[in-house]
Order: sequence, then C-alpha cells, then structure tokens
Amino acid sequence: MRLQDLPAALLDLSATHRRRQRAVIDSPQGVEVVVDGRSYLSFASNDYLGLADHPALVRAAQQGLERWGVGGGSSHLLAGHFSVQQEAEEALAEFVGQEAALLFGSGYAANLAIVSSLLDRGDAVFADRLNHASLNDACRLSRAEFKRFHHNDLAQLERLLAESDAKTKLIAVESVYSMDGDEAPLAALLALAERYDAWLYVDDAHGFGVLGEGRGALVEHGLSSPRLIYMATLGKAAGVAGAFIAGGGELIDWLINSARSYIYTTSQPPALACAILASLRLIEAADDRRARLRASIETIRCGLSGGEYSVGASRTPIQPLIIGSDEQALALAGRLRDHGLWVPAIRPPTVPEGAARLRLSLSAMHEPEHLQRLLSCIRGDAAP
Ligand SMILES: *Cc1c(COP(=O)(O)O)cnc(C)c1O
Repeated sequence: MRLQDLPAALLDLSATHRRRQRAVIDSPQGVEVVVDGRSYLSFASNDYLGLADHPALVRAAQQGLERWGVGGGSSHLLAGHFSVQQEAEEALAEFVGQEAALLFGSGYAANLAIVSSLLDRGDAVFADRLNHASLNDACRLSRAEFKRFHHNDLAQLERLLAESDAKTKLIAVESVYSMDGDEAPLAALLALAERYDAWLYVDDAHGFGVLGEGRGALVEHGLSSPRLIYMATLGKAAGVAGAFIAGGGELIDWLINSARSYIYTTSQPPALACAILASLRLIEAADDRRARLRASIETIRCGLSGGEYSVGASRTPIQPLIIGSDEQALALAGRLRDHGLWVPAIRPPTVPEGAARLRLSLSAMHEPEHLQRLLSCIRGDAAP
C-alpha cells in the first residue's frame, strides 16, 4: 500500500461495508457500557463472568501497584521476572491440572510462541479452518507446512496426518470457537495425536473460567497427556489481561529458552499478576455465576430457535446469529443499537464470506429482563 493509495483503499472498504471503526467506551467493562455519551446494554464482551470490573480484582490490582510499582521494566530473562508472577504461574498450572505454566502479555504472543518454538522447516501444523487469526498468523510465521482441515473434520485431519512425513506434528485447535461458540472434539483429537505422534495444542481462550468449573476445557473433558499443550487468555472470563501456556515442565522450560515472543518482550506489569491471583480465587468460587450463565444461554437459545435467523450449535456464552450478508448484519446491529443494545456485527475476514453474523456474547451479569429486551428487539416486536 503506497501513501497515495490509502484514501481510495479506505473508500473501497466503506463501499463494501468492510470499514471497521472503533466504538469509544467511556465506562468500565460490564453489561452496561457508555458509548459516545449514551448508555447501552452490552452483548459484546468476553467478560463472561463479569469479573473485569469486580471490586476484589480492582483492589488486588491497586495493592499490586502499591507493592510492585507500574512497569515490568525488563524482559523475563533479564531482570523482569517477579516473585508474584512466579506465584501466579504456579497457581495457574495447578488450577488447570498441569505441571507448569508460563505467563504471556497476550494470547496472540502465546500462540506465536508455541508454534514457532516447536516447529521448523520440515515440520507440519494441522489447523482447524475456524481457528483464531492469531493462531493462523502463528502457523504462517513458522516455517512449518501449514495444513488446514475443515472445521471439526476428524476424518480429513486423520488423512492429512497419515500422509504427512513431517518430523514434528502439531494439531492446533480451539476448545470453544470464538465466532461460533461450538466446541472441538478434544478426546478424539487427543486420540489422533497419540496415534500419529503429534502434539495437541488447545487454545482455551473461551473455555477458561467457564468450562470445567472454571478450570477450562481439559478439566471439563478429563483429559491429560504429556502431548497436550494448553493455552488460555486472561483478558476474557478472567477479567484481567494476558495469557498463559500450561503443560509439562520440560515443555515450559523449552519455551522459556526458545519462544521469541516470550524472550524479546518486556514482562507484564507485575501488579497484573496480583489481579490474576485474585481472579483465580473468584473463578474457583464462581459456581453461581456459571449457573446464571448457563440459564441465560438456555433462555437465549430457546428464544431464538425457530426465528428468522439461525443460531449455531453452541452451549457456550458465545451465541452467533447467522445473517449471511454483511449489509444485513450491519443493519440489524444498527437497529439494535437504536434500541440501546450493543451487539457487534462480525464480517469477513473474521468469519467466512457469506457468514456475517451478530455475535451475542452472554455474561453472568445479564438479568432475565436484559435477555428479554434483546430477544424482542431481534424478533422485531419492539417499535423503533
Ligand atoms: C482472544 C483470543 C486470542 C488472543 O488473545 P489476546 O490475549 O486477546 O491476545 C487467541 N485465541 C483466541 C481463540 C481468542 O479468542
């Protein structure tokens, strides 16, 4: 893109309904958010348990700032690895039932770390087609062969594995798909990983805090194996920021020694580790929040079934309303906005062409009346 081509390129995005603009939020994250001076009921956040603005998290972060100051100041391998981060890593590993864990500044960085430090030329990664963009970028950046299989298509995956003569093989999936809310068949995937001597990498960005009584997808499915690599982000249900990878001790040690997105970056502010420790305690004690979330999911699914648009096969807080055309998805999101409801329209390339949708994201903090307002606006019973 040359400088002189930028105006036309941006106009082109506008003309095709693909130009993205950021809404400026002027309130804490929560089910009620203030956007451009107006208050909205939000179905847009990944803060599934309503922890992002929880007083105990805020207090933990404040106390952390008092104790540790603000900046991390250095990379972990030089002088930026703090005892509170070490403590958080040990707590995270134990919480998800793994031997060791490693904190990252973001899920994006964690995904880059795994793929690039385990795979090189002559290796291969087998990735679900609906994987998150960060995971796809990680696969592209590694020098390994990048094989994609149709969403949850185990037969195709097995053919690809059987044909491959790659030295190291890694299967990369999400536990809960971020734009569809459906889940990967993890037990069957692990069986394939065992059969074909592959790693199984599970990005649990949307399962951690929600599935397995908060301990994530592997605990939910009762899976454990030295070939499993677990990743969860801490900016979604955990309400903080960053991510962690958990697995065997030697794997984590290898990452510390080879993952460029771990080594060549400044550590997270140590106060965040205080918030992470507080978040773990909240997640562990959040059975009531998870129960409310499950009830809300049920209400929304019942309320939308048989309606004009189809809802996906999701039992998670991510409930997609598949519309098809970008323009119609934007129009419905606009109509909901006029009614004070904040629901993002998701367009390609985030989702496949022709699969534009509204991504309803539910929180434990939604009240039954919030859900009824959303349902009646989607059904069009509400007068503008
Ligand atoms: C959000 C997300 C990421 C990226 O995590 P960040 O911490 O936001 O960088 C990775 N994978 C999936 C599936 C996600 O939804």
